[in-house]
Amino acid sequence: MRSHYCGELNLSHDGQEVTLCGWVHRRRDHGGVIFLDLRDREGITQVVVDPDTEEAFALADKVRSEYVLKITGKVRPRPEGTVNSAMTTGEIEVLGQRLAILNSAQTPPFQIDEYTDVGEDIRLRHRYMDLRRPEMQEKLILRSKISQTVRRYLDEHGFLDIETPALTRATPEGARDYLVPSRTHAGSFFALPQSPQLFKQLLMVSGFDRYYQIVKCFRDEDLRADRQPEFTQIDMEASFMEEEQIMGLAEGLVKKLLKEIKGVELGDFPHMTFAEAMSRFGSDKPDLRIPLELVDVADLMARVDFKVFKGPADDPKGRVAALKVTGGAELSRKQIDEYTKFVGIYGAKGLAWIKVNALENGANGLQSPIIKFLGEDVSMRIMTRVGAQNGDIVFFGADRANIVNEALGALRCKIGADLNLYTKEWAPLWVIDFPMFEADEKGNMTALHHPFTAPTCTPQALEARPMEALSRAYDIVLNGYEVGGGSVRIHQQAMQEAVFRLLNIDEAQQKEKFGFLLDALRFGAPPHGGLAFGLDRLVMLLCGTDNIREVIAFPKTQSAGCLLTRAPGQVDATQLRDLNLRIRRDPASATSH
Ligand code: ASP
Repeated sequence: MRSHYCGELNLSHDGQEVTLCGWVHRRRDHGGVIFLDLRDREGITQVVVDPDTEEAFALADKVRSEYVLKITGKVRPRPEGTVNSAMTTGEIEVLGQRLAILNSAQTPPFQIDEYTDVGEDIRLRHRYMDLRRPEMQEKLILRSKISQTVRRYLDEHGFLDIETPALTRATPEGARDYLVPSRTHAGSFFALPQSPQLFKQLLMVSGFDRYYQIVKCFRDEDLRADRQPEFTQIDMEASFMEEEQIMGLAEGLVKKLLKEIKGVELGDFPHMTFAEAMSRFGSDKPDLRIPLELVDVADLMARVDFKVFKGPADDPKGRVAALKVTGGAELSRKQIDEYTKFVGIYGAKGLAWIKVNALENGANGLQSPIIKFLGEDVSMRIMTRVGAQNGDIVFFGADRANIVNEALGALRCKIGADLNLYTKEWAPLWVIDFPMFEADEKGNMTALHHPFTAPTCTPQALEARPMEALSRAYDIVLNGYEVGGGSVRIHQQAMQEAVFRLLNIDEAQQKEKFGFLLDALRFGAPPHGGLAFGLDRLVMLLCGTDNIREVIAFPKTQSAGCLLTRAPGQVDATQLRDLNLRIRRDPASATSH
């Protein structure tokens, strides 16, 4: 129907007759002349309709916001003084000659022509309208461009796009599974994949050598701003490569994206061990744009007679750390109280602080409710250790190490954002040398990455000292977000069985859950490894937003529902019977989103 997209027109089309199709973004009646801003995915063009073109004028008079029109007319330069340099089409307009109303529209539930701050619920309920907004179109167009760039890059590097099943068995990635009841196998369930992990490894066993897929994964977890229950991975795997080569390929992809999408040249990504990241930043995904660091002071605090500090300082599982904020002495009491509340979210029981007013006066120059407990000597030693200067503030965390890390790690990012301490726009890094295992709350060992990750040691050494073993895993971190992660895999059956044993998966369970993998490892599995990027997160960062729902066409809410379709929904009794299911609770009383 159309000859051009609205957003495509400029002075080079002067004098041409064009036909545009799109939505009425705005309509203005200027004393006898009607201006219609016509919008499509590429942008907006101003159309002028004069009363002399009677038929067109009569129709233009009728149209309202969001009507769908087809307009034929002539491109002409805008009259002097009316050029709009903020619009790509701002130098021209179309003199509308023929106009057809393809469809009418009710008054939109919210304004499309201005990015007003509409509640997210309303936006999600009417997502098809929300997505009409130019800002949303831009984001999804960028997303498509990013996917294309990824495909092109991986294709150029010899990766084959191979699909893996969505109805499958559980693949442990540490989250709860979404289950799908089987009709043909009464009482049995499929699991939606938390990732294609096992299938991609099997593809390596089959010799495909380099695989990738842009693929939906499903994890039934509590949601955060940067997580969705179904999300998209750029999943890759390759054979006969060590970590350097896999990481090099992945790094190349991120560099290419930043270059193509943002015009930014990233240098080589630094590598940092997990231990160093935790110690300096309290996080395994440190935001290196922020120049603040955690400094251990347990040895000094162990000398004081103040339980709050001495307890954790003496506890092997404890940590006492300081976080110096340059120029932070200006923070008000109220702000400090807010930060105290903030660290409480992460389980910290309080937030001690020292303001550095006049170091030359010794402890007298320090302002803090805790100086009296620490005494002059320890206080001053701490100041030296953290390199404090007049005008700084030093915060303290003292608790179990994981609480201190989470609390001060998050505080570091919050203060970095609040005080805008960012030193650069993009800060990528690799985090390496992860432990193989961690202990959960009950003290059980769980895999830090997933159970298919290779350790750096032999099966014997692994079984002898599992908690000390490091894995051949690597995470790629960008601006404080884990955008990808992967590992060299276990490709020998003995090692895989050792890991299963350590994870308390006994032989019967191994056979039942992972028999196919163990079998495959016996049939000439090549050394292999890979990585998966979170596409949504990457797009989110490249779009400059911190809300993942902004870059997904039809996202779920925080409670993992869809406001548009009202999924999940109830099903009728016949369907349940077919699936051999009975609902225990009265579904009507079940809470929905
Ligand atoms: N399957 C892993 C994940 O989803 C990524 C990988 O190890 O390749 O986290």
